[in-house]
Amino acid sequence: MHTIIPAPASIESKAGVFQLERDCPIEAAPEFSGEAKLLAVWLASESTSLPRAASPSGAKRGAIRLVRDESMRDGEGYRLDISSEGILISAKGPAGVFYGCVTLRQLAMENSGSIQAMLIADEPRFSWRGSMLDTSRNFFSVAFLKKYIDLLAFHKLNRFHWHLTDDQGWRIEIDRYPELTKIGSWRGDRRIHGEVRRNGGFYSKADVREILEYCRERHIVVVPEIEMPGHAMAALAAFPGLSCTGGSFEVEDRFGIFEDVYCAGNDETFVFMKNVLEEVCDLFPGPWVHIGGDECPKTRWNACPKCRAAMKREGLKNAEELQSWFVRKAETILAARGKMMIGWDEILEGGLAPGAAVMSWRGEKGGIEAARAGHDVVMTPGEWTYLDHYNTSGPEPLAIGGDVVSLAKAYGYDPVPAGLTPGESSHVLGSEGLIWTEYVPTPAHLEYMLWPRLSALSEVFWSPKEGRDFKEFQQRLKEHAKRLDALDVNRWRPQEERAKFKERP
Ligand SMILES: [Zn+2]
Repeated sequence: MHTIIPAPASIESKAGVFQLERDCPIEAAPEFSGEAKLLAVWLASESTSLPRAASPSGAKRGAIRLVRDESMRDGEGYRLDISSEGILISAKGPAGVFYGCVTLRQLAMENSGSIQAMLIADEPRFSWRGSMLDTSRNFFSVAFLKKYIDLLAFHKLNRFHWHLTDDQGWRIEIDRYPELTKIGSWRGDRRIHGEVRRNGGFYSKADVREILEYCRERHIVVVPEIEMPGHAMAALAAFPGLSCTGGSFEVEDRFGIFEDVYCAGNDETFVFMKNVLEEVCDLFPGPWVHIGGDECPKTRWNACPKCRAAMKREGLKNAEELQSWFVRKAETILAARGKMMIGWDEILEGGLAPGAAVMSWRGEKGGIEAARAGHDVVMTPGEWTYLDHYNTSGPEPLAIGGDVVSLAKAYGYDPVPAGLTPGESSHVLGSEGLIWTEYVPTPAHLEYMLWPRLSALSEVFWSPKEGRDFKEFQQRLKEHAKRLDALDVNRWRPQEERAKFKERP
């Protein structure tokens, strides 16, 4: 029995054993030199704790070879052939070779690198296997983000959805508007911990580039999220003139939904939006930009003379149509920079621009509706994929309300909603495990919420649906949990394990 997570599409056991060593020679085609370099780092790492070469120098040693196989399909699939003589990872391109190396990294972490010979043929079920991290409600350092991103790669996740702006903090440096981070990235009181302190921080452009490079090496596409027209208090604190009332505002230290949003009748709003989005497009190489679009109350718009004039001028029936018009303007800006827009399912309200993709968070309904209308969809229903929800109904650190998302519940999720035709299902790109950080103030707490639920979701996103069995997953997870421990991850533990484990988030 293997213990790989996410489970590969197929494994065939063979006779023999290969003994992996810390400095095992790696031979790679030039186009796979980046993957070979990472694999060498992983094998040499303390977390892998492989033995050093025991054979005398000069003796013939088994090697790991990374080779290009033209006969294979383009994409992320790979073959990993382990025999007693050596290891062969083959794929058509670097992404496939990378995932073969990730599988080998997991195998290297058990039995002191003594690996049963086998042939793995593997490829993912979905192309969008993501994790969303809210860095607005709480800020996380670049060093910690790298640890988190490496764990995404360790689970073959390939989208880092980076929530960069919200009411409680603007986290990305924008050259044109330094006030966004100077004012908008800091807030005062933290009510949930009852102490008054300055809270915040932001990512400079250099920080973002560092994260982008780290993700690129690990075949992860970064999807930046810049919230509009709602969840904008941090930006409005810096630029109150972009609101309907003129302010003044502070960066929010409360959590929830706030009535003050960008004014949709003010030309300045769209100049600002264009300048910000263009800098974001120029910085992030990926094809998608997420514009939020969720939870935008219409109170201010309905009362604002400028917004009402805009509705009249544009022939819009109500404030929902005004939001749709706003979102289309964002899409036009992104399209001019060659980017695709994605947003939360509220962007469907009042009509959605043709090329836009939808992230369905309020259940599956928005995703179904969007897929039926021919839009691409990333399924992120809170009931299964929101990892800021409680792990169990038992004793747990304070978390946000809503359904408990147990390990079993996350594992039982299927991103393709029942009732879609095969044609409609083809619009389901995949899914994400998401974490909002209102109640997640530290890296240790974040890891406690993410792992191993995100390990379970990684299998939902990567592995074939057929034959999925939670009991069998739990068996593999026992070994996988040791890998997480070796990587110093503060994972959630079942009740029976907790008594032995003192450190809590
Ligand atoms: Zn207005």
